[in-house]
Amino acid sequence: MPKILRTVSETRDFTNLYDLVNRRIGFVPTMGALHEGHLSLGRKARNECDCLIYSIFVNPIQFGPKEDLARYPRDLKGDLEKLESIGTDAVFFPDETIMYPEGYSTYIDVGPVGNVLCGKTRPGHFSGVATVVTKLFNITGCDQAYFGKKDYQQYTILKKVVNELNMPVDIIGVDTVREKDGLAMSSRNSYLSKDERKAAVVLNKTLKFVKDNFIRFKTKSEILTKVTELISSEKLADIEYAELRNASDLSDIRSIKKNKLVLLLAVRFGTTRLIDNMIVN
Ligand code: AMP
Repeated sequence: MPKILRTVSETRDFTNLYDLVNRRIGFVPTMGALHEGHLSLGRKARNECDCLIYSIFVNPIQFGPKEDLARYPRDLKGDLEKLESIGTDAVFFPDETIMYPEGYSTYIDVGPVGNVLCGKTRPGHFSGVATVVTKLFNITGCDQAYFGKKDYQQYTILKKVVNELNMPVDIIGVDTVREKDGLAMSSRNSYLSKDERKAAVVLNKTLKFVKDNFIRFKTKSEILTKVTELISSEKLADIEYAELRNASDLSDIRSIKKNKLVLLLAVRFGTTRLIDNMIVN
């Protein structure tokens, strides 16, 4: 079984052993309820690093007051078994008071890119993510950290934070792992009813349609009109946003011919909000 580390000093003592002999520490931050998507990050890290550490921490400061913090799925026993199966060395599993003791008040401001896309309806979310990830990097002393491109805005913002704050960590992006029918794996898929689960396939279908037919489109608005039409054809789907942006920094685009583009979707099925994205050209 991976070693369970619950405090900052225990974790530092563990990782120092690797640092002393110049070994590379690979780190995968998660909120638990692990699935194949989470494990794919660790498998890549296992191949590229000498030590593999996961963290499991449902980070309260990245949830809004009306979000699913209390009902977020938790399964430590199952998670540890999965992490053992891929050769994880240790799991940092702190409780909230370790991460945010009374009086805690330091937060990272990620700037305007934190206020678009998911940031529009989740104010403070990316500040919460950047803050916890920075703390986790400082605690683990990792050399490389692995993030899923499924959370494309998170991945883009964290690369920017690490670069701008001169943090000595390489951010490695990993492609989205999908179910057989194309639905991106997510801990939140467990909230979906049977009908919602069927309907949710429309996200991947829409992304793939745009990718496969990209050369037929002339403008951004033509693409987004088609996207809205495809998603709306699914009665249970309620679009929060569908946007086409520059894949390197999520900036707005004028022409669809010049840049590498990412199509990003957030869609609600009942009370469950799912996100997905794809590079389309
Ligand atoms: P979470 O526990 O949801 O915060 O996710 C932890 C990490 O796993 C993040 O870097 C996610 O982007 C990544 N992840 C989640 N789902 C997937 C997936 N289907 N494929 C690849 N990575 C994923």
